[in-house]
Amino acid sequence: IFVVFEGGEGAGKSTQVDRLTSALQAEGRDVVVTREPGATDVGARIRSLVLDPGGAPSPRAEALLYAADRAHHVATVVRPAMARGAVVVSDRYVDSSLAYQGAGRTLPVNEISWLSSWATGGLKPDLVVLLDVEPSVGLARAAARGEGADRLEAESQTFHERVRYAFLDLAAADPKRYLVLDASRPADELAALITARVTGMLTA
Ligand code: C5P
Repeated sequence: IFVVFEGGEGAGKSTQVDRLTSALQAEGRDVVVTREPGATDVGARIRSLVLDPGGAPSPRAEALLYAADRAHHVATVVRPAMARGAVVVSDRYVDSSLAYQGAGRTLPVNEISWLSSWATGGLKPDLVVLLDVEPSVGLARAAARGEGADRLEAESQTFHERVRYAFLDLAAADPKRYLVLDASRPADELAALITARVTGMLTA
């Protein structure tokens, strides 16, 4: 199965990816942990382009670069791992593009959706864990970690709000595929809920 974590800045995705991975590995499962952008050699080069503090690409170029990263990631990491029966856990996937490049940069969301579907050959996650966080809280957490402070502060508050509501709208449109959690809850509680949901899917 393919499990994706989504959420805004400082939502705690990496902590929860680690927690789920450890729990599944403790059960002896084959788990492949990955992320976007930048999980592959090609992706790492794309990541440095899209997140270059010295000059972001224009919105359509940015959208194409994320799509290129994703196409290569799906073809060389996600699909091969799924084919051998591994549980694939990815930190970000298509919803991040719909939220950041679509809602955030105000590119037409249906076009980003089409581009993503072309890039992935239509591969959809079995479960999306959305860690929902209010932008002011998440940005403060990310800043405390010193993460891309300049780049994140360059975006307006409304940019981050558009991103947040885009994630929530995607979840509302397809509720069975989503687990939406309040990221301000204690990490242990979140980890228990996520592990229970994924374990349930694996034993169903
Ligand atoms: O999840 P991570 O912190 O590695 O993401 C790095 C940055 O890339 C985030 O700050 C996010 O704003 C940006 N991003 C984006 N569009 C995507 C994926 C990530 O703008 N599709």
